[in-house]
Amino acid sequence: MNPSPPRPTPQTEAVTAAVQQAYANYGQAASRWMDEFFAEGGRIFCGAGCFGCCNMPIRLSLAEALVVRDALSAEKLAAVEAHARQVIGNARMAPDDDTYVRRHRLEVGYCPLLDRTTGQCSEYAARPTRCRDTFSAFPARYCEEGHWESLSTREKRQYARDVARTPGTDGELHYVAPLEYLSEPVWDTAAEMMSQAFGVQVWGDFWVLVTLSARADFMAAIELGDAKAAWGAAKRAGLAHPMILEIE
Ligand code: SF4
Repeated sequence: MNPSPPRPTPQTEAVTAAVQQAYANYGQAASRWMDEFFAEGGRIFCGAGCFGCCNMPIRLSLAEALVVRDALSAEKLAAVEAHARQVIGNARMAPDDDTYVRRHRLEVGYCPLLDRTTGQCSEYAARPTRCRDTFSAFPARYCEEGHWESLSTREKRQYARDVARTPGTDGELHYVAPLEYLSEPVWDTAAEMMSQAFGVQVWGDFWVLVTLSARADFMAAIELGDAKAAWGAAKRAGLAHPMILEIE
C-alpha cells in the first residue's frame, strides 16, 4: 500500500491547471451543443443515479490521473489501488481485447469512486474526460454489459435501424458522438502539457495511472523525463503491463 502520495510540484501543478482549464472549456462547449440538440428535439438518457457505464475500462493520460490523485483522500486512493490490482490481473489473464473488456465489466466491476448508495460519482469535479463525454441517446439498459448479447438477431437489426435514424449518434452506436469530438482538445492539452513539463507522455488505465501518480518513485522518474526508470518503478509496484501502461 502506498504510504502517502507525493505533494503537487510546480511541474504537476502546471499540468493539472491546464487540464482543469480544458475541462472547463469542454464543459462550456458541451453545454452549448446540448442546448441546441435539445431545442431540436434530441434526447440524452443519462442522468444522476444512472451508472451503467461506470464499469467500463477507461483510458486516460497521466495529466488527468494527477487531477484525480490530488482530489482523493488516502482511503479513496487505497480503494483505487485495489481496483488497479484487479485491472492488472485481468490484463495478465485475458486472452484478447474483447475478453478483457467483458471481464473488466463483469468481474473487475464498478469504479471504486462510484457511490453505490446514490448511484452518483463521488468525485464528479475530478472525473476524467471519458466520464465527461460519454452520453447515451438510448435508455440505460443499452449501456449495460450483456444487453447487446441478450438481443435476438431481429432485435439487433432493429437496433441498427434505430441508431441510424437517431440524431446525435454516429449511425452505428447509441452514444452521442459530437460530445466525444468536442472533448478532443482535452486530450491534446494533456499530451502537450506532459511533453512540456515531463519530456515524456504517459497513457494507460485510469486506476493504474492514479495509483502510480501517487507513488513518489514513479513521479520522481517522470519529472526527470526518465521513461526507463518510470517503467521500473511501475514494475516494482506490480503495475507494469504493456496493455495498460504506455510511457513514451
Ligand atoms: S470517475 Fe465517476 S463517473 Fe467516472 S467511472 Fe468512476 S464513478 Fe463513474
